[in-house]
Amino acid sequence: MGIPTNRYSKITDKHPREICLLRSFPCAWGKCSFCDYIEDNGKDGVLMAQMNRQVLGQVTGEFGVLEVINSGSCFELPRETFEDIDKVIETKDLKQLFFESHWMYRGQVADLRQRMGVPIIFKIGVETFDYDFRQKVLNKHADFKEPCEVAEYFDSPCLMVGIKGQTKEMIAHDIHCLKKYFPLGTINVYNNNTTKIRRDEELVRWFLKEYSWLNEDPAVEVLWEITDFGVG
Ligand code: SF4
Repeated sequence: MGIPTNRYSKITDKHPREICLLRSFPCAWGKCSFCDYIEDNGKDGVLMAQMNRQVLGQVTGEFGVLEVINSGSCFELPRETFEDIDKVIETKDLKQLFFESHWMYRGQVADLRQRMGVPIIFKIGVETFDYDFRQKVLNKHADFKEPCEVAEYFDSPCLMVGIKGQTKEMIAHDIHCLKKYFPLGTINVYNNNTTKIRRDEELVRWFLKEYSWLNEDPAVEVLWEITDFGVG
C-alpha cells in the first residue's frame, strides 16, 4: 500500500460522521503479520502535525461527530495534533469522537477519555477473539483471553474476516462476542496485500451469505475494502 492521498471523508450511512486519516509516529508494535499500512508513519512530529492541521481544517462539524484514524494507535499522534483536535471540538462544536488504539495502550484510554472533554467511542483492532489465531498467526501482541477484558476499556472491536486458516466457527464466535459484549463494532473483510497472509475466497463467500443481516444492523459496520470509509 502506498501513501494515502485522500485523508478526509464523510460517512453518511451508519453513525454519520466526518473522518480524518492523520499521520503519526511509527506503530510501537509494528509486527502484525497482516499489516503493511505503516508506510504512512513518520518521525518528524512538526511536519506531520502541520499536515494533520490541514486535514483537520476540512472538518465542518456538520454531524457533530469526528473519527480520527492513523496507521497505528491514536496515542502515536503528535502532541500538537491533539491540541488541534481540541480546537476543532471547540470551534466546530463537536459532541463525540471516534479514536482507535492497540491493546498495549489500554492503560491510557481512561485518561484520554477524560482529557478530550467529549465522549469517545474507542475502537480496538481485535481481529479475532480466538487467542491462538490472533497471537500466533496474526502476531497481534494483544494477550487478552476473554472479550469482557477488552470491553473494560474499549467500546468497539474491529474484527477481520476471511483469512486463510480462519474457520467458520471462529468467525461465528467473533460476531457473537461482538454483539454480546460491545455496543458497536467494525468488520473488515480481508483483502490481500503485500504480506504473506492470504484471503480465503470461500470463507468470504460464506460470510457474505451467512451474515448479510449485518448490513441492516445499525451497530456494525462491514468494510469490504480498506478504503470503504472514503479515506486511504
Ligand atoms: S498494531 Fe496496527 S499498525 Fe501496528 S502492526 Fe498491528 S495492524 Fe499494523
